[in-house]
Amino acid sequence: MAQIIWGTELAAKIKIDLKAEMDKLRALNERTPGLTVILVGDDPASISYVTNKQKACREVGMKGEIITYPASVSEITLLAKIAELNQDERVDGILVQLPLPAGFDAQRITEAIAVEKDVDGLHPLNIGRLQLNQECLVPCTPSGVIEILKSIGCDLRGKRAVVIGRSNLVGRPVAQLMLQLDATVTVCHSKTPDLAAICAQADILVTAAGRPGLVTADFIKPGAVIIDVGTVRGQDGKLHGDVVFAEAEPLASYITPVPKGGGPMTVAMLLKNTLKAYEMRKKDHGIWTE
Ligand code: NAD
Repeated sequence: MAQIIWGTELAAKIKIDLKAEMDKLRALNERTPGLTVILVGDDPASISYVTNKQKACREVGMKGEIITYPASVSEITLLAKIAELNQDERVDGILVQLPLPAGFDAQRITEAIAVEKDVDGLHPLNIGRLQLNQECLVPCTPSGVIEILKSIGCDLRGKRAVVIGRSNLVGRPVAQLMLQLDATVTVCHSKTPDLAAICAQADILVTAAGRPGLVTADFIKPGAVIIDVGTVRGQDGKLHGDVVFAEAEPLASYITPVPKGGGPMTVAMLLKNTLKAYEMRKKDHGIWTE
């Protein structure tokens, strides 16, 4: 029987630490770090994600601003707002909620965000720096996975890690981070043959396919650590991961549930990234006061 890793509990601990950091800055009369999220359109899931991010900012005492535009906004208006936020000293993190409505060039918009404020870690320079193992802003869900592994004292050195999914948002960066921690990493995707056989060799299996029911008992090496990042809202209105929990849990040593596993960690890591962006800019700028 596996030990369940509750991301909710870990995220709560991270937020307590961040709140203490915010209190420290306030006591020193330093400027409060701030995150600005841009929301385009009225997709209910995006509205809910953005609202959660702002709520989390408030919980830890960080500034959290949401700028909303209708789906009819022009890309030029959006780019002009990003340019303005890039120049705004009081904005430490800028995030454009993805996916954008049809017709927007998400890559162009992501690249318009100043590298040092790119708290989603999706700017090509941040992606490149991650590959080079240089200091950078790392995508939030992958760094949440690493925090989860650290929380259980998982030493990746020499371990076999398998990632299902090769997206820029999750699969690739999580593979890179595990490689930096000296795991031997295999990245699988939708064209990978014999997926179950490859996964069954994994000491650590991270799955981010968004395919509920994909990971069954035959994918699990006894004693493996299973991190399920997949989240799909089913017709039952509930969130589902990639892993068939009832089959994997008796075999694994540790496992994250869906919901309350990897998901809550993403927002916590976004707050951490915003503080990191603030600290990195402070090095160049010097101390800001309120
Ligand atoms: P994506 O669609 O960009 O990538 C999915 C990847 O899974 C692709 O590389 C694809 O090749 C692979 N894949 C799909 N079907 C597969 C199969 N049958 N076998 C093997 N590989 C397969 O998605 P994404 O943005 O990387 O997100 C992946 C999942 O993670 C989604 O469910 C998403 O909702 C979830 N997600 C969760 C969070 C969070 O906060 N917890 C954040 C980001 C993404």
